[in-house]
Amino acid sequence: MTSWGLLYSWFKKSFPEENYHLGQEFQNLEQSESSVTSYFKGGTHDSADLLIGADGFRSGVRALLLPQIQPKYAGYVAWRGVVPEVEVPEDILKVFANHFTFFQMPDSHILCYLIPSESGNTEAGQRRLLSLPGEPLFIADWERVLMLHYEVEPDALQRVVPFELDLREGRAFVSAVAFTMRGMRPRVGGRFAAWLFKPIATHEFLNVRTYVRHRGESGIYFLAEWLPNRLSVALGPRLFGLPYRSGRFQYEHHWEEGLLTGSVTDRAGGAAFAYQGVLRPKMRFATCEPGGIEEWLMERYTAFTYAAGKARFFRVWHSPWPQVRVNADVTDPRLLDQSWPLFREARMIGANFSPGVRNVWMGRAHRGA
Ligand SMILES: Cc1cc2nc3c(=O)[nH]c(=O)nc-3n(C[C@H](O)[C@H](O)[C@H](O)COP(=O)(O)OP(=O)(O)OC[C@H]3O[C@@H](n4cnc5c(N)ncnc54)[C@H](O)[C@@H]3O)c2cc1C
Repeated sequence: MTSWGLLYSWFKKSFPEENYHLGQEFQNLEQSESSVTSYFKGGTHDSADLLIGADGFRSGVRALLLPQIQPKYAGYVAWRGVVPEVEVPEDILKVFANHFTFFQMPDSHILCYLIPSESGNTEAGQRRLLSLPGEPLFIADWERVLMLHYEVEPDALQRVVPFELDLREGRAFVSAVAFTMRGMRPRVGGRFAAWLFKPIATHEFLNVRTYVRHRGESGIYFLAEWLPNRLSVALGPRLFGLPYRSGRFQYEHHWEEGLLTGSVTDRAGGAAFAYQGVLRPKMRFATCEPGGIEEWLMERYTAFTYAAGKARFFRVWHSPWPQVRVNADVTDPRLLDQSWPLFREARMIGANFSPGVRNVWMGRAHRGA
């Protein structure tokens, strides 16, 4: 299935931009032996060897040359509406997306189907991100990503989360995600913009995130994020409402040797979070099983934030995580236990490691989540 907008943008791109004169409304024409002159609203005109009147079913060119040809009622009316996917609640999308739905009734029928965005995107996360103008804002690689998943008590968690929890079969989850972001740069602006971003482009992260739903869209909410870069710590809360905290990091994610260790120490309070994990020999990275809990936990493309009374959201997109299950232990839980007492009752349900994803698209922060 394709869309008018997509065909239009492809055709438009394949012809040099300077040959388009948009906003010129054709009104009249004059022909001579050797040329044809078109007259436009506002008094401008242009001459050429040939005029092609591809100006639609109410063509002005045709009306001048063949006035006897008039549109004729075909006996039926088509009503049509296009809703940006991002405005459709996820429950409804689940029913209609990827299906061609027919509803038949006497003398009529209703159809419902997905069409690509104008840039041709058809992947869910990518479609959502690109449905808003000016996206994505930044691009980066996320490397050597370890996710440690905890099941926690839903009511205790809801008390510290300002969005409705996204529960899976009534169970609530929080994940600690330890990774390195590399080469973050603005999508536009080329090498100079990338150079300006160098001071905050590459550093470790420890995200503590939970799973929420807001206005029909599922996503994540960060309880806190630790990072070593003090400049990023200063900028993140202001620009994105992100709960950044400053930490000292030691990540040794040597998956090639099958061993992962790491520790993060909060610079303000001194408490640490430390872990170790082992990968099975000869393991293979693969995308998560569709419909499984790992996919539910890992494949999330919207982040909701709440700071200074303002709810915001931003979207990301990347190819699905290549990942494996890891045997992991938390050797020092104090940073999490002291930050949120609910972690004292939490149960680790598993861990996944990914070598990472490249060219992650990160969107701008939008108000009004
Ligand atoms: C809602 C809808 C759904 C459709 N779905 C399908 C489908 O699924 N499959 C399919 O095959 N077809 C579909 N069609 C039909 C298809 O879009 C049209 O048949 C096709 O676009 C006609 O192409 P065209 O080049 O003749 O005119 P258009 O695509 O209408 O292009 C005419 C162009 O001329 C410009 N123009 C008009 N007057 C002037 C003027 N005076 N001066 C300067 N410029 C002017 C217009 O701005 C426009 O850009 C659909 C149409 C509609 C409306």
